[in-house]
Amino acid sequence: MKRRIAVFLDADIKKETFSFDELVIRTKEVFDKNGMPAVITLILEWMDGDLCDSLTGVQTKESLASINVKPCCKTPYFVRSSREPRRIDSTIGKIKFHWMRLKCKNCKESFIPLRQFLNVKLYTSHTLELEKIACETASHQSYRRSAKHMTDIGGNPLGKSKIHTWVQKTDSAHLKLEQKELVTIVADGTGYPRFKTNAQKEDEKKNPKRDADNRPLEQIRVILGIDKHGKTIPMGVFNEEKWNEIGRLVKRANHHPKLKSKPIAELLVSDGELAIERGLGKLAKTQQRCQWHLTYDLKSVMKYQDEANNEETRKVKDQLHEIMRIPLPNEPRDKVKTEEILNLEVSVFNAERQMNALVKDLKEKQYFQTATYVENAKAKLFNYVRVWIRTGDAPPKVSSIIERMMREIKLRLKRIGCNWSPKGAAQMTKIILKRFTNSNEWEKYWSDTLKLDGKMKIEFAGAQFVN
Ligand SMILES: [Zn+2]
Repeated sequence: MKRRIAVFLDADIKKETFSFDELVIRTKEVFDKNGMPAVITLILEWMDGDLCDSLTGVQTKESLASINVKPCCKTPYFVRSSREPRRIDSTIGKIKFHWMRLKCKNCKESFIPLRQFLNVKLYTSHTLELEKIACETASHQSYRRSAKHMTDIGGNPLGKSKIHTWVQKTDSAHLKLEQKELVTIVADGTGYPRFKTNAQKEDEKKNPKRDADNRPLEQIRVILGIDKHGKTIPMGVFNEEKWNEIGRLVKRANHHPKLKSKPIAELLVSDGELAIERGLGKLAKTQQRCQWHLTYDLKSVMKYQDEANNEETRKVKDQLHEIMRIPLPNEPRDKVKTEEILNLEVSVFNAERQMNALVKDLKEKQYFQTATYVENAKAKLFNYVRVWIRTGDAPPKVSSIIERMMREIKLRLKRIGCNWSPKGAAQMTKIILKRFTNSNEWEKYWSDTLKLDGKMKIEFAGAQFVN
């Protein structure tokens, strides 16, 4: 079916001057606000009429199958029943139209052909393309700001509670604990401003809740995997489960109940939190202390516990950076000369010796907490190099992945004025993880969901004066 559609615009150009900008802005407005919704309504009602014409009267199984409708009875015979109004929110504003309900004369069952044809859910009031933009917008600004932004672009008011509901319900945030061929597992947690009643706030002032590692009990816990090709795969986000429970969940998702369980990755990377090392330790063959966290957390130990000044702290931080930096070769391991691999082993040996010297130096300067902190981390700082030497695959830039990921999560969750329910914070974290660590998968999910497969074609055919 092919038709040409005309959009009529009344342009009135007075003799007075006006700006180029006004011309652009007014024209854009008229297309956005009226032109596009009108064209879509026109096409919808054209399709509706067409579908109903072909479906009234006696119908066969085949004729109904073309629009995914099962025959209602043995002798379907449809007549027009009622013309029903419908409004659907979209990124170009509210689209208002009517669609026809057909009713079977023989069994009295009824349906809306256009709804079946377009696969519109029964009670949906918005397009999925609007939902995608809303989820993306809400993943980097507050719900209140998102609502304002969406209202601005869509041209009709969209409340923050509506966006919140969409974000909570979207399937696009789905993550999978079951993974194959992981090299690395990364785990991290962060506190977040949780919504509390006044009574809860009072209670917390009296007995602050901290765990054995002196971290807040209410945490968003995140785990993700990195495969052979360096691809980051978000696996899970938790708010109620502790690390040992998470470890069990991952194990259960990845192992056949009748087989002996074995590690699912070479390396577990964490910030050294005891609960993570214990709870998730069995998931990987060895553990790696996250180098980014080591230097990031150093400040609070050295400055606040050992009362060192800024300059001293920065000096130690730089020293650590310098010692830890052992770059892995870019080529695959089987292409690297034995000599170079031996050099790498020597580098690790030297780095660990330098770490010992640093610890000794810190003790001499009376920075005992910092010395213990560095000493505890030492044994797990270079396992990424060892894994590479042993297997040839290891995560070269794991620290930067964690750094980027945690920064994005904290930016969103700890925005001023935000407070979260545990469920709300977890769902938002999932969306952030998917968007920022694995944006291809995010886009693929949506292009599958929106079914953009080129079956609908519309082309611009020119503009000219009608009179
Ligand atoms: Zn029937």
